[in-house]
Amino acid sequence: MKSINYEHAAQRKTFVGVVYDVGSRARKESILDGLDPRFSKFHREGRMHIHDLEAYGITYNCLNVNVLAGFPYEDFHGYSNLRKMLGIFEHFKRVIVGLGNEQSGGIGFPNFDIDLEVISERVGLPWDEATRTTLSECIDAFLKWINDARDRCGQVQYYVTLNLGLGTGERARFVTSAVLSRFMRSNNIRPNIIFKVKDGINRREGNPNHDLACLARESTSKKMIPTYLLCDSPHNAQLDPVKIALMGCRTKVYQDEHGEGTTIGRSNIVYTTINLPRIALEVTSEHSELGVEDIIREFEDKWSSVAEVVKDQLLHRYREMCKNGPDDFPCNYAFDLQITSFKAVASMEDVFKHGTLAIGFIGLSEAIDLLTGKKYYSSSENHALAIRIVRGMREIVDKYRRDHGLNFSLLGTSGEFISGRFPGIDKTYYDHPLIEKGFYTNSFHVDVDSKLNPFEKIAFEGPFHKYCNGGCITYVEFKSAPLTNVEAISELIEHAIENDVHYLGFNFPWDQCRDCHATGTFDDCTSCGSKDIKRIRRVSGYLEEAEFFTPGKKAELAHRKPNV
Ligand SMILES: [Zn+2]
Repeated sequence: MKSINYEHAAQRKTFVGVVYDVGSRARKESILDGLDPRFSKFHREGRMHIHDLEAYGITYNCLNVNVLAGFPYEDFHGYSNLRKMLGIFEHFKRVIVGLGNEQSGGIGFPNFDIDLEVISERVGLPWDEATRTTLSECIDAFLKWINDARDRCGQVQYYVTLNLGLGTGERARFVTSAVLSRFMRSNNIRPNIIFKVKDGINRREGNPNHDLACLARESTSKKMIPTYLLCDSPHNAQLDPVKIALMGCRTKVYQDEHGEGTTIGRSNIVYTTINLPRIALEVTSEHSELGVEDIIREFEDKWSSVAEVVKDQLLHRYREMCKNGPDDFPCNYAFDLQITSFKAVASMEDVFKHGTLAIGFIGLSEAIDLLTGKKYYSSSENHALAIRIVRGMREIVDKYRRDHGLNFSLLGTSGEFISGRFPGIDKTYYDHPLIEKGFYTNSFHVDVDSKLNPFEKIAFEGPFHKYCNGGCITYVEFKSAPLTNVEAISELIEHAIENDVHYLGFNFPWDQCRDCHATGTFDDCTSCGSKDIKRIRRVSGYLEEAEFFTPGKKAELAHRKPNV
């Protein structure tokens, strides 16, 4: 009999999973065949990548849910306290499962602590010992369910992000504390948790939630989670921190051409990523005679012409999606999860115009290296060039925003799949060592083997954050879990705020022995000697087991060096 190893469930093909895969592959091809040849050619030739192609014209990408608006409070009348508590979490699970069927990407809770406080009060739960006990148990069960459930598309997990840390009410504080401490004590690698850092609330000693910030850092030092949304970084400082939240993959949705800035109830609708090294390869092979200044200008011009195609493709996809009706989104319809109720709209455009159309980029580091022969972090001149390029991209994206009255945004793409796909295609056209390594570096990140110390890395990457209004992250890579040096995490958070980083994460190799459950950084288990080791690493914002990485990410992992 074939044994089922639930640890490897991501690779298990259920009946539904097999049917989904076959359908998804066929749909991608038929979508490409039916698109404007400009779009399909650019995608097939690897000059751009249309993400979640199987969802083209059907649905949007991700959503930070407005969980309060459509919560079925009235259903809770007459329930016992136990049933009320269970009912709240049943509802959250229904939302996750429902959205898992009707959108292609992640599900965020923008203020999990505050929202749970509001809901528990409105359904009439008393704040007593019995409530606290069941709340803590339910949170633990909810985290475990998110970690374990492989119910989406018959085989894959849900990408869920809990943003928290700002609620100073008794209940909200209890929720944040329970989420962090339960997560820290478990073997879970999901959900993604994002701790919002804000002066006056949790950033400094004496702030009401400073204890929770300390708990967050302790959890990060053991498990890489949470990551940190830095609400005090200069370009975020004027925003209401309650209204801003992120998706674990890094997607940021905030500015709105059709209303006040907020993340709550808003989606990234569509996104496509541009292959920067490819543009650099094209201009350097066509114009080998040019000096740096001219070659950079050629690069910028070529980027603009690629961006025109990407913009047209995003508009096409957006318009196709707006042809759907509210009935095509039953979970959104039932629970009013978005900024505009699906029940009240004349056309879907009334909802989706609030979402973002993101133009992503990958491989800035390789592009600058190709254009100048040096890394962008090798000199202040090259750093300034890199910033100029990203600022220029943002200016063009902002022009699209004005011209079309839609929320075009610039995204520093994480590129789980494309980091390997792009160089794989590029090497059929060009021959260069930067292609041979098998992956391109995320967004504007410095190379994973830069060996810059964490302070330098943050200082180099910080200036790019304010231009990436569609989202981005800076990571610091530790050699091993900084268990005895939680203070380093605090210092780096402060340094990141000073350098205008808005989203910060910490990575380190985290190995788990499958036999005795010991954890650490080892090849063979240091407790029992077992060679059966689960290697947990962060890829594209979420923790994953390394053996399931895409080939590009495996190549990147092999090159990663700590920032020491
Ligand atoms: Zn062991």
